[in-house]
Amino acid sequence: MKAVVLHPGRDRSVRRRHPWLLSGAIARVEDEPAAGETVAVRSAEGETLAHGHFEPGSQIRVRLLAFGKEPEDEGALALRVAAAVARRGADPLLAGTDALRLVNAEGDGLPGLVVDRYAGVLVVRPSTSGMLRRGEAIAGALREATGAAAALLRPDAVSLRRAGVDGRDGTLWGEAPAAPVAIAERGRRFRVDVRQGQKTGFYLDQRDARDLVATLAAGRRVLDAFAYTGGFAVAALQGGAAHVELIEASRSALALAREHVAFARERAACRADNAFEVLHAGVDDFDLVILDPPPLARRKDDVKPAARAYKDLMLHAFGGASRGRLVLAFACSHHVGPELFGKIAFGAALDAGRRVSVLRELCAPSDHPVALDHPEGRYLTGLLLRVDG
Ligand code: SAH
Repeated sequence: MKAVVLHPGRDRSVRRRHPWLLSGAIARVEDEPAAGETVAVRSAEGETLAHGHFEPGSQIRVRLLAFGKEPEDEGALALRVAAAVARRGADPLLAGTDALRLVNAEGDGLPGLVVDRYAGVLVVRPSTSGMLRRGEAIAGALREATGAAAALLRPDAVSLRRAGVDGRDGTLWGEAPAAPVAIAERGRRFRVDVRQGQKTGFYLDQRDARDLVATLAAGRRVLDAFAYTGGFAVAALQGGAAHVELIEASRSALALAREHVAFARERAACRADNAFEVLHAGVDDFDLVILDPPPLARRKDDVKPAARAYKDLMLHAFGGASRGRLVLAFACSHHVGPELFGKIAFGAALDAGRRVSVLRELCAPSDHPVALDHPEGRYLTGLLLRVDG
């Protein structure tokens, strides 16, 4: 089998079963593996440590799928897909919705593969050439495990392009739905644009936070900043919010949001606007402020400017007169974990001259499992904060 050989002393992360082998650890590549081909990983001393998918243009040069001397046969991938689907079916934390993440990449032992289910439609999102070229095997396993009527292929084109691979949208089986797909989540109804929407179409990772917002919202005036299609707004209206204002820059997202809040039209207002500017103008009218900006720190170098942007948002959310205001703030980057996010909130509270407490920390729900071998898989951090004085 083709192989990569590590520099002396660079085998530690592989022995600790971290699924990413970075290019800097590799001394040489033997026999020119193709993009996505399975390679063996050998220590400088010649010991075979693991096997994984070779990703030529990527800084994460090999995505490791199996540890130890023996390679897995290709059928192992289908078994893992089936196991991931079965785990969701047996998880009581995931009851009450027909929209779930079925495969969460490293969290399910399938680096480079995300699969989301929206009622009868699956959206398959490979981000590596290894997973892209195994699309047929993956589709077969998914079809058998779910019985879904259709599956769309929506590769993560940005990640793939970095690796020099062209990932095109397509259909794996069935018919691509002509209209957004209706889903029902714990009493909330949405339509998901599985063909054009952001990522796979909907932010499934905020499901538990939506439940929390529904619990908190009664009688409150709610600002849903960075609303996308209004997931939090719908939850707030479901929970009896007095009024909800949605701010979103994307007009196509806002069009769906308008539909979603139509059941409580008299209590909701949708605005196409820049949420940073809205926050700057002051949020005195609101007593629950939700801040869910796009990923501001995609790379490590972005952390400082991202921290400033998060702090700026929180500073304005803490300002004004309203004691008892709740602020639900999120960061979706594995570079900004709960500890750093808490520090950013503290800095904002100091600058705003307010006393602020943390009521709850949030993360993604259990259909987004994080393998302990791969802490980078934890990318979503939320803080429920209260302005006390
Ligand atoms: N809260 C949403 C997800 C938000 S994702 C949910 O739970 O479904 C971040 C959103 O912010 C995206 O929809 C993006 O279009 C929007 N966005 C990005 N920059 C923005 C800005 N400056 N002002 C308002 N919205 C913005």
